[in-house]
Amino acid sequence: MFTTKLASVLFVASTFLLVSQATPLGQNYRRDEPAPVTPTADDHQIQFGYEGDIGPPYWGSLDPINWGLCNKGTKQSPINLYDALLVPNSPLSFSLGESSSGLSLTNDGHTLKVVFNVEESSKYTLSAYGSKYTLQNFHVHTPSGRLSFKVFRNLKIGICNFEIKKNTYFGTIDFVEHRYNGEYHDLELHFVWMDAANNTAVTGVFYDKGDAPSSFLQTAFVNPSPPPTTKDSPPAPLDLSDSLLVHKFLEATVHDFTNYYAYDGSLTVPPCSEGVKWHVYRDVQILSIEQHKAITAITKWNARETQAYNKTAFGIACHTH
Ligand SMILES: [Zn+2]
Repeated sequence: MFTTKLASVLFVASTFLLVSQATPLGQNYRRDEPAPVTPTADDHQIQFGYEGDIGPPYWGSLDPINWGLCNKGTKQSPINLYDALLVPNSPLSFSLGESSSGLSLTNDGHTLKVVFNVEESSKYTLSAYGSKYTLQNFHVHTPSGRLSFKVFRNLKIGICNFEIKKNTYFGTIDFVEHRYNGEYHDLELHFVWMDAANNTAVTGVFYDKGDAPSSFLQTAFVNPSPPPTTKDSPPAPLDLSDSLLVHKFLEATVHDFTNYYAYDGSLTVPPCSEGVKWHVYRDVQILSIEQHKAITAITKWNARETQAYNKTAFGIACHTH
């Protein structure tokens, strides 16, 4: 029995290594300082972060009652996207406003987030799944790269009743939010939509570093001065009404959402609620290296590791005979 279990563990370990080796190295972002932490928007007293004892592997156990899905959910996000999830030539139905006032850039301790006030939110709608969603915010995740398993140094990983003790090093893991066929991207932009019953839909856009700056990211996340560098910084008001930048961006990218990956997943932060309708745009946008540097100087590393889609990604069968 032990041999079988050990073989399973070694299989898992080798799977991690294979997955890691299959992805390009890119830049390694090693966090030199603790992730910013803060109570969640509902004044939750328990803090979460992206490394150490409050990092993603611990989220579920930090608050088992409210955040238990982070560890025990079966449809968690982000995942490794693949072609079978692609929805081609079936554009999502957006109705987009043309005013972009009433916005503010905030730092909630986990991400930079452009928040829409109620009036502005009502101008941007997504009609899908028999419901109408309004745009609540858009925010960034800055993944790309890999961390050694030392982020799990205090974690006991139980697989098939075989427990890997703490301080075990057996590879690296990519913290990337969504991936496509194992590839990761330098930044992921999430537009969060919510209907009257608080059901959530997210439209995601990938960015890679390149030669051309993104005027949208520049105006929304880089130009505001002073930027909200910490959760205690006052929000930076944004008035994009002259440039109609949000509208133009959505028009050019999300509005033309004809090729996207769709699946039922979860929030990628606690409480990791499931039932989230995910749509990740296939085409990758470009931001400049300078922009990426400016944004990551504030957000640092705020990406959750890839989750097993429907808990089957590892393909493990736990034999007990
Ligand atoms: Zn997000």
